[in-house]
Amino acid sequence: MTYDEIVQALRDSTYELQNEGRMVRAGLKAQQDTASIIERYAWLYSDQALDVVREPTDEAGRRVRAAIAQGIIERRTAPQQDRLVTFYAGATVRVDGGEEIPFFTAQAQLLREPDPGRREALGEGVGAVMEAADELQFELQAAVLDVVRGFGYDCYTDFYEALKEVDYGRLQTELVRVAERLRARYRAWVEPRMERCGRAYGECPQAHMGFIRGLPEHDAVFTREGFEPAMRRTFERLGLELFTASTIHLDLEDRPAKNPRASVWVPEAGREVHLLTRPGGGNADYSSFLHEAGHALHFGLTDPAIGWPLANVGRSMAYAELWSFLFERIGHDPVWIAEATGVDEHRAEQIAVDLAGVDLMLFMRYVGKFNAELELYAGDPLDPVRGRRVFTGACDAATGFRYDPRAWQFDRDPGFYSADYLRAWLAEAALERWLRREYGPHWWRTREAGQWLRQRWLEGWLPEAEDMVAGVGEAPWSGDALIERVEGRLAVAA
Ligand SMILES: [Zn+2]
Repeated sequence: MTYDEIVQALRDSTYELQNEGRMVRAGLKAQQDTASIIERYAWLYSDQALDVVREPTDEAGRRVRAAIAQGIIERRTAPQQDRLVTFYAGATVRVDGGEEIPFFTAQAQLLREPDPGRREALGEGVGAVMEAADELQFELQAAVLDVVRGFGYDCYTDFYEALKEVDYGRLQTELVRVAERLRARYRAWVEPRMERCGRAYGECPQAHMGFIRGLPEHDAVFTREGFEPAMRRTFERLGLELFTASTIHLDLEDRPAKNPRASVWVPEAGREVHLLTRPGGGNADYSSFLHEAGHALHFGLTDPAIGWPLANVGRSMAYAELWSFLFERIGHDPVWIAEATGVDEHRAEQIAVDLAGVDLMLFMRYVGKFNAELELYAGDPLDPVRGRRVFTGACDAATGFRYDPRAWQFDRDPGFYSADYLRAWLAEAALERWLRREYGPHWWRTREAGQWLRQRWLEGWLPEAEDMVAGVGEAPWSGDALIERVEGRLAVAA
């Protein structure tokens, strides 16, 4: 097999896999069958293919190599993944020893259930299901470690540091500094909310976090009718054709089997991108649409002439999340909130403070998750007693919530995704500070800023998040801009 054949097959299989996932998510197809697609490309996701790109001489070659390595992990763990997905899809949660509800329904209810006592009961039931999946999670984890060892790495962390070209120790030091700087403001925001759940900081079960995150007190402001006009105006003003670009397909339809969570699928960057959403109203709808719009624009406006690898394969997810975070944070601006929803300045300010509070809470959560993962993989990741202790220790300390040790495997994303997210957090705050300086505090109302963004997106996935930050003269890997923004926003509350 040749390099060109490999690239062509990566392109074809990605196209098929992305459309398969999209169809299921959109409610247009009932059963997901990615395993058979991957099997058809078994020759591609193999050590033989990896050998062809053993010594890549350019960035495109390195991306191709990373895509094959990732594909090998997916192929070798597909049976374990399938067993796990099937288990959760069929699992039921027993609440208070009585009523039984499907696992995913219980998780959805946790976000909206107004009674704190019932939320904790739901959390208990959900934890029991996660514990029952422990063995299956174990098999999956063991299979991943096996593949990583086959690549020549004894340590999972070392493998991902090499693959993503990042120094996790350095990142962790900065994140811990930022978290400690912001701890007092975080506590001031989150403690009254924990008290409303009848719990103190450090004692509050994590089952309440999703409900606190949803900010139900502001939902009525974010109406279903107001959603589309607000979004159209936002992107029109920037001169960004989210709603009209021939490469971006918007699916706003309401289908019964459609997953309500917004998502973006990229069969091929610069040629075919799909944004799915099913707006039902509420601030989460607005936020998640803005987030996914950032992804859709980045990939939809990529110039395919830069070649498939640089357009479609990232060094990490940090760069892609930089753009989604940037657009999501437009929705945190009180001026945008007032315009989009029609509330007065005071109310808009209040909502903006709470969105900043949620953002900070999630930042703390991800810092906790990342700390837990680094510690877990520094020792034996298959030791459950140690694993549970490491997970709750790190997450409790970072958030002030009390995590359920039974979630130690469920609540861990593969490939240090937590670090990619956190890098995007730092990078987005730095880039946004620069945009405000360059195009004014409401840069998101100017065509010039839109034009600048459009130029960046032509380059597809070539840069990394920190390159973009350094490129505008801000400090990469630094949390200073994030600290500045959080202190500015949450100072209003004090
Ligand atoms: Zn995203």
